[in-house]
Amino acid sequence: MNTKRVLKVPINNRLTTLTGPSGVGKGTLIKNLLKRHPFIWLSISATTRSPRRTELNGKDYFFLNHEEFRAKIIDKELLEWAEFSGNYYGTPREPVNYQLAAHRPVLLEIELEGARQIRSSFPSSFQIFISPPSFEELEYRIRARKTDSEESISKRLLQAHVEINSQKEFNAVLINKNLENSLSQLETIMGL
Ligand code: 5GP
Repeated sequence: MNTKRVLKVPINNRLTTLTGPSGVGKGTLIKNLLKRHPFIWLSISATTRSPRRTELNGKDYFFLNHEEFRAKIIDKELLEWAEFSGNYYGTPREPVNYQLAAHRPVLLEIELEGARQIRSSFPSSFQIFISPPSFEELEYRIRARKTDSEESISKRLLQAHVEINSQKEFNAVLINKNLENSLSQLETIMGL
């Protein structure tokens, strides 16, 4: 773990982003973090990706078609957005502003380009990168979850190199070896 910056913004006013390659285990970490700290508010993103078997519209994502997503960009309804692995992903602006105004800690799980946009629009955001113990382990995990086609896995692994090479840009880097350790490290770096 490499915490570079003291957390100056109180947790109740803080926007935190979590970024890391596909398959690194962000989803599991976040699910467990929210169980322990239910006052943290996790943004639900919009995406043009098709839902996976277990995913629900409005809970995991807002699943939109390209027209609908484009309309949200034009109407400036997204705080940030990016293309990832052939699909579009973005953070609805209004709910984030609402939660921050209500002094609820906000968590965004977003890819690299989105994290960069948030860095410039919210310079006081706290940005965490979740890294795999090794690239081989990442490939093993992404295949083991059996949610992606071979084409999607190849794209995601290619992008993973770019993301892992960018980790120096982040305020803190956490290597996700096992859930229990990572969870307590995450709590520490978030000041929870
Ligand atoms: P997945 O298809 O595996 O659910 O997500 C693919 C990638 O998109 C992940 O790295 C995830 O963090 C990222 N992502 C999810 N929601 C958003 C979003 O609202 N904005 C951006 N920029 N990336 C997102």
